[in-house]
Amino acid sequence: MKYDLLVIGAGTAGLSAAIYGVRAGLKTICIEDAVYGGQIVNTPEIVNYPGIPTITGIEFANQLYQQATSLGAQVFYEQIDGLDFGLFPKRVHTTRCEYQADAVIIANGARHRKLGCAGEDAFEGKGVSYCAACDGNFFKSQVVCVVGGGNTALEDALYLSRICREVHLIHRRDTFRASAAVVEQVRQTQNILLHLSCTVSEILGESTVNAIRIADAVGDAGEETIPASGVFIAVGLQPNNTIFDRWVDLDSGGYIVAGEDCKTKTEGLFAAGDTRTKQVRQLVTAAADGAIAATGASQYLYSKNSKK
Ligand code: NAP
Repeated sequence: MKYDLLVIGAGTAGLSAAIYGVRAGLKTICIEDAVYGGQIVNTPEIVNYPGIPTITGIEFANQLYQQATSLGAQVFYEQIDGLDFGLFPKRVHTTRCEYQADAVIIANGARHRKLGCAGEDAFEGKGVSYCAACDGNFFKSQVVCVVGGGNTALEDALYLSRICREVHLIHRRDTFRASAAVVEQVRQTQNILLHLSCTVSEILGESTVNAIRIADAVGDAGEETIPASGVFIAVGLQPNNTIFDRWVDLDSGGYIVAGEDCKTKTEGLFAAGDTRTKQVRQLVTAAADGAIAATGASQYLYSKNSKK
């Protein structure tokens, strides 16, 4: 199947690219290996997207998907198992078929990072979660822990504080990476208890989680066991780009090296959203990248065709 523009990923950057692609007259497809929406479906409440005072992540994703598909973009759910970006058109093989596309945008986002402590894998889905918006309601009126010090962890803690009896927020340093407004809100919330400069030694339980063991990361306060039925881990993101490394440069964190124009080192290949090197990873910057990458792809195809 032949397309003008193929977008890998149907998160905010990918669907924004699809909107700009079809609006530029390009026959556009998104290939997604999980669900549309990407990371944002894990966000309980978005309050910083310009022009939309408040919306849930799932609602935002649904609207973005509807917008892209109603304009004519196709979204297929398939696993990619081979690529050749050196050819024109470029080739993307999936478990179902081979796609050809004149330009490709990589917008595959980044996945949650694991904490790496004992018990994390054993209790995943049995009390250990990476998505407060998805799983928070299973812990109504219970005691839960959140691990991390970024915006995700603190926003998760706030969201869970409205559902759960008590939320223990565990962070390895004594200052937060999250924005000041969110930190202040957390500090003002009575049922959020802070455990700063603490690391998680182990997640404990029998068939499901029943406690977490934390250790003082700097002093000699030793270990503490907190009884809890849920542990929400929010310790950042990790890109998954090794499959592309013949055609793009990766930085030391595995992100695709691309500037604000979203161009990679390969002609006609762009990287948009959380997957690329950038200073600010936000919903609005992911959407902006999608627009820039699709506009770049359209200009690339126009100049390629006008040379024929
Ligand atoms: P993040 O900003 O990278 O924060 C990750 C947190 O996890 C950091 O506090 C980090 O500690 C901690 N951490 C990392 N590895 C750890 C480990 N092995 N053990 C214990 N703690 C560990 O990740 P994020 O919160 O998921 O956010 C990702 C991006 O999305 C950020 O750019 C963020 O601003 C953005 N975001 C924005 C919003 C919003 O604007 N509403 C909401 C969510 C996310 P250190 O601080 O010590 O490094």
